[in-house]
Amino acid sequence: MRLEFLGTGGGRYTTFTQLRATGGFRIVSDTTVHIDPGPGAIRNYKEFRFPLNFSFIFISHKHLDHINDIHVLIEAMTQGCKRKHGTVFGPKTAIDFIADYYDDWIEKQTVKTGDKLKLDKMTAEFTSTKHNDSSALGAIFSDARTSVWYSSDTKLIEPHYKLRPDAAIVNTQLPHGYRPEDRMSIDGLIDWAQETKPKLIIMQHFGMNLLKQGPEKEALRVQDKTGIRTIAAKDGQVVELEKEIEKVI
Ligand SMILES: [Zn+2]
Repeated sequence: MRLEFLGTGGGRYTTFTQLRATGGFRIVSDTTVHIDPGPGAIRNYKEFRFPLNFSFIFISHKHLDHINDIHVLIEAMTQGCKRKHGTVFGPKTAIDFIADYYDDWIEKQTVKTGDKLKLDKMTAEFTSTKHNDSSALGAIFSDARTSVWYSSDTKLIEPHYKLRPDAAIVNTQLPHGYRPEDRMSIDGLIDWAQETKPKLIIMQHFGMNLLKQGPEKEALRVQDKTGIRTIAAKDGQVVELEKEIEKVI
């Protein structure tokens, strides 16, 4: 399983200043899923030379930094052909955001917490969130070898302690010292990882305050506290998950 980051920024200020790009990321396995195409996703396919070859798009919720480029990504996924080619999935509020115009172009799949969805040879199982868009969903993506949890935007909540993915991609908008009610901070991530012990943590979706502190510094804080290898993702970065999992700190 490979991860490709089209943007590692998130939150209002990072999004409108583009301190970091906001295009979301891709999971590449037997099939390819683009996750959360925020502003600039399509531009960064060109910038980072990632191929426009995905068959699925997951929108975790309808906030701008997760959904802005959905229509142009549908055009890319279908290669501009008006025929059923590819699937967009997510909570109903996000799927309802898609223009009716595309009804003949794609499959739309509404999902909720606990649902499982087959994505060719991969599966996605949807996880709960506590966020200021209450319909937001995370997901565990699994192929034959590896499972990875994408938290989406959420505070750490009780059900997250039951998850046991090999690796985690966590939207850490806020640095150490913050305990927001609807988003994950570094302290929440440390609490979660100490309990669930994933083999690898990838932080992304950085807000302004975290960027000021320095994502690498905050990743090191997580790694030191948990003993788990922790990466602060960069725009354009490619992560070969199995290789990274095997590396020792
Ligand atoms: Zn959000």
